[in-house]
Amino acid sequence: MLVVYYDIAIIGSGVVGLFIAYELAHYRVRVIVIDREAEPGFGVSKGHAGVIHVVQPPFNSLRSKLAIEGNKLYDGIAKRLHVRVRRLSTLLVARNPIHLIALPAVWFILNRVYGKHGFRVRVLGPRELRKREPNVKGLGAIEVNNYGVINSFELISQLYNFCTLNGIDFAFNTEVVKVKVLDDGVAILTNRGEYRARYVINAAGLYSADVARMFGDEYRLEFGKGVMLVFWGEQTRNIVAPLQLAPNPKTKGGAIIPTVFGTTIWGPSLSMSDRGDRSVNEADIEILNEKFGGLLRRRDFIPIRAYAGVRPIPEGDDFIITYSKLSKHIIHLVGIESPGLTAAPAIARRVIEMLRDAGAVLTPKDEVREVDPVVMTKSIIEEGGTINADQGEVVCPCMGVTRADIREAIRRGARTLDGIIFRTGLGMGICQGMCLGKAIKVISEELGIDPEKLTKSGGNSWLVTR
Ligand SMILES: Cc1cc2nc3c(=O)[nH]c(=O)nc-3n(C[C@H](O)[C@H](O)[C@H](O)COP(=O)(O)OP(=O)(O)OC[C@H]3O[C@@H](n4cnc5c(N)ncnc54)[C@H](O)[C@@H]3O)c2cc1C
Repeated sequence: MLVVYYDIAIIGSGVVGLFIAYELAHYRVRVIVIDREAEPGFGVSKGHAGVIHVVQPPFNSLRSKLAIEGNKLYDGIAKRLHVRVRRLSTLLVARNPIHLIALPAVWFILNRVYGKHGFRVRVLGPRELRKREPNVKGLGAIEVNNYGVINSFELISQLYNFCTLNGIDFAFNTEVVKVKVLDDGVAILTNRGEYRARYVINAAGLYSADVARMFGDEYRLEFGKGVMLVFWGEQTRNIVAPLQLAPNPKTKGGAIIPTVFGTTIWGPSLSMSDRGDRSVNEADIEILNEKFGGLLRRRDFIPIRAYAGVRPIPEGDDFIITYSKLSKHIIHLVGIESPGLTAAPAIARRVIEMLRDAGAVLTPKDEVREVDPVVMTKSIIEEGGTINADQGEVVCPCMGVTRADIREAIRRGARTLDGIIFRTGLGMGICQGMCLGKAIKVISEELGIDPEKLTKSGGNSWLVTR
């Protein structure tokens, strides 16, 4: 059997694996990213809330340190990769007189911790709260600035484009099933053959403890499901959450979150679950309603979608970023729970330092190629440009996605319906996919396959049967 040799193998093409590959794309090393899924970002990175967070409790955790560092790196990365990011504040709203009396004390505590890292904390009185957030009911609030919301689909897609443009190899639909540590590296056995690499990075998300176990390293993970409800339209200008003086485990976390798409997310909630459970039931929605419904004056917004994601929660509730006990040539990233999206750029930089410490020779490339912005037909028209016939064939009227946009998404690597959805926004509008029949036809034509061969997200997730 053919064995393919690399300097570095990354297991996992979630946002963390992709950021590590993005950093490595600046050096003269041969890198492969291996993923069991059909496309990048189809693991935990597919179902989150898209918030760039700030300081995290517990304040002295690695999670908090890397979130602060990651937050500060995002503007530069988003500019370079042409990804939409919007900076805003989080408002913790006082809804009763006890909360109102507590505001100065909460400000004092938060300001000591957040202020030291450059995040501004302020108390807003009722009038200022009304001015800042006309749709929010409350007696006052604490404002923390420098949060962000990002188009994480665009981020994943542009990280992937950057990596492929700069020589990183990807093996999709490829599951790592066994590893063997050799004198000069690691043999990685997959369902599609063997790879050899001198260094291996385990960025396998929900399966990171399983991959670590293949090397004889033991970690315990629990799994926390988060449900999110999406509304058409923007309910608030900033991220808004009720002030909680004593956190209630049943309603922990989450907020009213304006997105870069002009929609609003409520959530995520948090409940312990098993790894494969992405179900949403009435009780989940009730928890979100109870927590966020009372914060808004106007509630006539149309809910368009509910979805769930699952986070890997490690023992000790902190990221585990460490060498394997076997060798410094193996680096484990275990339990990269929330805010892993925020921390990912900083995690990647830490991994580069660890590779250097382990003896990897990382020589910068003379030249690195930059990615172009993704230009959708909609924006060409908005800017008064002229369009061709394919750009005139609208497939998704709500989001203005055309045949040409689908063709471009395929050119950039999409192979499944979800791959197209994430790259174009197809089906994400108010009707939530009445165009899917036509979309399946056009996507199959553009991929040059029968509609029966098109899947939602790889594997056996067929969309059409005869
Ligand atoms: C509900 C929810 C809301 C969240 N909201 C936010 C937020 O607002 N802000 C924020 O900063 N963070 C948020 N997070 C956290 C964030 O989404 C994650 O921390 C981040 O996506 C983790 O990325 P990852 O690359 O580690 O994992 P993943 O995206 O899961 O990537 C791991 C990859 O490894 C692959 N893999 C696994 N095992 C194998 C194998 N044996 N062989 C080959 N491939 C394998 C998987 O297929 C997967 O693609 C949220 C998480 C959840 C669940």
